[in-house]
Amino acid sequence: MDALKQKILNEGQVLPGNVLKVDHFLNHQIDPELMYQIGQAFAGFFAGRNINRILTIEASGIPPALMTGLAMKLPVVFAKKTEAANLDTDFLAASVYSFTRQREYTIRVSRKYLQPGDRVLVIDDFLANGQALLGLADIISQAGADFVGAGIVIEKAFQQGGELARERGIEVHSLAKIQDMTDGKVHFCDDHL
Ligand code: 5GP
Repeated sequence: MDALKQKILNEGQVLPGNVLKVDHFLNHQIDPELMYQIGQAFAGFFAGRNINRILTIEASGIPPALMTGLAMKLPVVFAKKTEAANLDTDFLAASVYSFTRQREYTIRVSRKYLQPGDRVLVIDDFLANGQALLGLADIISQAGADFVGAGIVIEKAFQQGGELARERGIEVHSLAKIQDMTDGKVHFCDDHL
Protein backbone atom coordinates (compact mmCIF):
# COMPACT_ATOMS: atom_id res chain seq x y z
CA MET A 1 0.00 0.00 0.00
CA ASP A 2 1.95 2.96 -1.29
CA ALA A 3 0.17 5.68 0.70
CA LEU A 4 0.97 3.82 3.93
CA LYS A 5 4.60 3.21 2.98
CA GLN A 6 5.04 6.85 2.03
CA LYS A 7 3.55 7.91 5.34
CA ILE A 8 5.95 5.61 7.21
CA LEU A 9 8.92 7.04 5.30
CA ASN A 10 7.80 10.65 5.81
CA GLU A 11 6.57 10.52 9.39
CA GLY A 12 7.86 7.32 11.00
CA GLN A 13 10.71 7.50 13.46
CA VAL A 14 13.06 4.63 14.18
CA LEU A 15 13.72 4.35 17.91
CA PRO A 16 16.42 2.33 19.66
CA GLY A 17 15.51 -1.33 20.02
CA ASN A 18 14.06 -1.61 16.52
CA VAL A 19 10.85 0.16 17.46
CA LEU A 20 9.09 2.17 14.79
CA LYS A 21 7.24 5.18 16.15
CA VAL A 22 4.19 6.05 14.09
CA ASP A 23 2.40 8.34 16.51
CA HIS A 24 1.50 10.80 13.74
CA PHE A 25 -1.06 8.57 12.11
CA LEU A 26 -1.55 5.23 13.89
CA ASN A 27 -0.59 5.01 17.56
CA HIS A 28 -1.57 8.35 19.05
CA GLN A 29 -2.92 10.79 16.49
CA ILE A 30 -4.94 8.92 13.88
CA ASP A 31 -5.25 9.69 10.17
CA PRO A 32 -8.87 8.73 9.36
CA GLU A 33 -8.41 8.93 5.59
CA LEU A 34 -5.44 6.55 5.72
CA MET A 35 -7.36 4.25 8.10
CA TYR A 36 -10.24 4.28 5.60
CA GLN A 37 -7.88 3.19 2.80
CA ILE A 38 -6.42 0.51 5.07
CA GLY A 39 -9.93 -0.81 5.77
CA GLN A 40 -10.68 -0.90 2.04
CA ALA A 41 -7.43 -2.77 1.34
CA PHE A 42 -8.13 -5.48 3.95
CA ALA A 43 -11.77 -5.77 2.85
CA GLY A 44 -10.64 -6.25 -0.76
CA PHE A 45 -8.04 -8.85 0.14
CA PHE A 46 -10.28 -10.90 2.45
CA ALA A 47 -13.49 -10.59 0.39
CA GLY A 48 -15.58 -13.70 -0.29
CA ARG A 49 -14.23 -15.70 2.66
CA ASN A 50 -17.47 -15.85 4.66
CA ILE A 51 -15.95 -13.89 7.51
CA ASN A 52 -18.55 -12.81 10.06
CA ARG A 53 -16.50 -11.11 12.77
CA ILE A 54 -13.39 -8.99 13.10
CA LEU A 55 -11.16 -9.29 16.15
CA THR A 56 -8.40 -6.99 17.35
CA ILE A 57 -6.67 -5.85 20.57
CA GLU A 58 -7.11 -2.49 22.22
CA ALA A 59 -6.01 0.19 21.68
CA SER A 60 -4.10 0.68 18.44
CA GLY A 61 -5.70 -2.23 16.60
CA ILE A 62 -9.12 -0.61 16.87
CA PRO A 63 -8.88 2.12 14.16
CA PRO A 64 -7.80 -0.19 11.30
CA ALA A 65 -10.15 -2.95 12.55
CA LEU A 66 -13.08 -0.55 12.71
CA MET A 67 -12.50 0.70 9.17
CA THR A 68 -12.23 -2.89 7.94
CA GLY A 69 -15.49 -3.68 9.73
CA LEU A 70 -17.11 -0.69 8.09
CA ALA A 71 -15.93 -1.76 4.63
CA MET A 72 -17.00 -5.38 5.17
CA LYS A 73 -20.16 -4.48 7.11
CA LEU A 74 -19.09 -6.70 10.01
CA PRO A 75 -18.97 -6.25 13.79
CA VAL A 76 -15.61 -5.50 15.37
CA VAL A 77 -14.63 -7.04 18.72
CA PHE A 78 -11.55 -5.93 20.61
CA ALA A 79 -9.75 -7.98 23.24
CA LYS A 80 -9.35 -6.05 26.48
CA LYS A 81 -6.01 -5.73 28.21
CA THR A 82 -7.35 -4.82 31.63
CA GLU A 83 -9.89 -6.51 33.86
CA ALA A 84 -12.64 -3.92 33.61
CA ALA A 85 -15.70 -4.05 35.84
CA ASN A 86 -17.94 -3.91 32.77
CA LEU A 87 -16.51 -7.11 31.27
CA ASP A 88 -18.83 -10.15 31.44
CA THR A 89 -17.78 -12.82 33.92
CA ASP A 90 -17.91 -15.44 31.17
CA PHE A 91 -14.86 -14.55 29.12
CA LEU A 92 -12.07 -16.22 27.18
CA ALA A 93 -8.53 -15.30 28.18
CA ALA A 94 -5.00 -15.74 26.92
CA SER A 95 -1.63 -14.67 28.18
CA VAL A 96 0.54 -12.44 25.98
CA TYR A 97 4.17 -11.54 26.53
CA SER A 98 5.11 -8.05 25.38
CA PHE A 99 8.74 -7.70 24.32
CA THR A 100 8.38 -3.93 24.04
CA ARG A 101 7.08 -3.62 27.62
CA GLN A 102 8.90 -6.73 28.89
CA ARG A 103 5.94 -8.04 30.80
CA GLU A 104 3.17 -10.58 30.53
CA TYR A 105 -0.44 -9.45 30.32
CA THR A 106 -3.80 -11.12 29.91
CA ILE A 107 -6.19 -10.41 27.06
CA ARG A 108 -9.89 -11.12 27.48
CA VAL A 109 -12.90 -11.42 25.19
CA SER A 110 -16.47 -12.04 26.36
CA ARG A 111 -17.82 -15.38 25.10
CA LYS A 112 -20.88 -13.47 23.95
CA TYR A 113 -18.83 -11.84 21.17
CA LEU A 114 -16.95 -14.89 19.93
CA GLN A 115 -19.10 -17.91 19.20
CA PRO A 116 -18.40 -21.47 18.04
CA GLY A 117 -18.41 -21.56 14.25
CA ASP A 118 -17.57 -17.87 13.84
CA ARG A 119 -15.23 -17.11 10.95
CA VAL A 120 -12.83 -14.54 12.28
CA LEU A 121 -10.54 -12.02 10.63
CA VAL A 122 -7.90 -10.58 12.98
CA ILE A 123 -6.67 -7.05 12.33
CA ASP A 124 -3.74 -5.46 14.18
CA ASP A 125 -1.46 -2.47 13.84
CA PHE A 126 1.90 -4.28 14.15
CA LEU A 127 3.27 -7.77 13.84
CA ALA A 128 6.63 -8.02 15.58
CA ASN A 129 7.32 -11.11 17.69
CA GLY A 130 3.82 -12.41 17.13
CA GLN A 131 2.80 -12.84 20.76
CA ALA A 132 -0.32 -10.69 20.43
CA LEU A 133 -1.41 -12.56 17.30
CA LEU A 134 -0.82 -15.97 18.90
CA GLY A 135 -2.77 -14.85 21.98
CA LEU A 136 -5.71 -13.97 19.73
CA ALA A 137 -5.33 -17.32 17.93
CA ASP A 138 -5.56 -19.03 21.33
CA ILE A 139 -8.77 -17.16 22.16
CA ILE A 140 -10.31 -17.98 18.74
CA SER A 141 -9.47 -21.64 19.26
CA GLN A 142 -10.94 -21.66 22.80
CA ALA A 143 -14.15 -20.18 21.35
CA GLY A 144 -14.40 -23.00 18.79
CA ALA A 145 -14.26 -20.38 16.03
CA ASP A 146 -12.25 -20.45 12.78
CA PHE A 147 -9.23 -18.18 12.30
CA VAL A 148 -9.61 -17.19 8.63
CA GLY A 149 -6.69 -14.78 8.41
CA ALA A 150 -4.81 -11.83 9.83
CA GLY A 151 -4.56 -8.36 8.32
CA ILE A 152 -1.55 -6.49 9.65
CA VAL A 153 -0.87 -2.81 8.98
CA ILE A 154 2.91 -2.97 9.56
CA GLU A 155 4.87 -6.20 9.73
CA LYS A 156 8.45 -6.08 10.97
CA ALA A 157 9.66 -9.01 8.88
CA PHE A 158 13.05 -9.11 10.64
CA GLN A 159 11.29 -10.28 13.81
CA GLN A 160 9.88 -13.76 14.23
CA GLY A 161 6.11 -13.11 14.39
CA GLY A 162 5.32 -13.50 10.69
CA GLU A 163 7.20 -16.76 10.45
CA LEU A 164 5.69 -18.12 13.68
CA ALA A 165 2.16 -17.32 12.52
CA ARG A 166 2.62 -18.64 8.98
CA GLU A 167 4.24 -21.84 10.33
CA ARG A 168 1.04 -22.42 12.29
CA GLY A 169 -1.00 -22.08 9.12
CA ILE A 170 -2.28 -18.57 9.81
CA GLU A 171 -2.68 -16.58 6.60
CA VAL A 172 -1.07 -13.21 7.21
CA HIS A 173 -1.57 -10.29 4.86
CA SER A 174 0.54 -7.22 5.68
CA LEU A 175 0.13 -3.85 4.00
CA ALA A 176 3.69 -2.70 4.72
CA LYS A 177 6.42 -5.22 5.34
CA ILE A 178 9.67 -3.88 6.77
CA GLN A 179 12.85 -5.74 5.93
CA ASP A 180 15.12 -3.81 8.27
CA MET A 181 15.72 -0.48 9.95
CA THR A 182 19.23 -1.07 11.24
CA ASP A 183 20.66 2.19 9.85
CA GLY A 184 17.82 4.22 11.37
CA LYS A 185 15.94 4.18 8.07
CA VAL A 186 13.01 2.00 7.07
CA HIS A 187 13.60 -0.45 4.21
CA PHE A 188 10.58 -2.34 2.90
CA CYS A 189 10.72 -5.94 1.71
CA ASP A 190 9.26 -5.18 -1.72
CA ASP A 191 11.38 -2.09 -2.06
CA HIS A 192 9.85 0.13 -4.67
CA LEU A 193 9.78 3.35 -2.67
P1 5GP B 1 4.12 -8.61 18.97
O1 5GP B 1 5.56 -8.61 19.37
O2 5GP B 1 3.26 -9.36 19.93
O3 5GP B 1 3.92 -9.07 17.54
O4 5GP B 1 3.69 -7.08 19.02
C1 5GP B 1 2.76 -6.69 19.94
C2 5GP B 1 2.37 -5.26 19.87
O5 5GP B 1 3.51 -4.48 20.19
C3 5GP B 1 1.87 -4.74 18.55
O6 5GP B 1 0.51 -4.95 18.36
C4 5GP B 1 2.16 -3.25 18.73
O7 5GP B 1 1.13 -2.65 19.47
C5 5GP B 1 3.43 -3.25 19.52
N1 5GP B 1 4.63 -3.10 18.70
C6 5GP B 1 5.55 -4.04 18.37
N2 5GP B 1 6.55 -3.51 17.65
C7 5GP B 1 6.25 -2.20 17.51
C8 5GP B 1 6.91 -1.10 16.86
O8 5GP B 1 7.98 -1.21 16.25
N3 5GP B 1 6.29 0.10 16.92
C9 5GP B 1 5.11 0.29 17.58
N4 5GP B 1 4.59 1.52 17.55
N5 5GP B 1 4.47 -0.72 18.20
C10 5GP B 1 5.04 -1.94 18.17
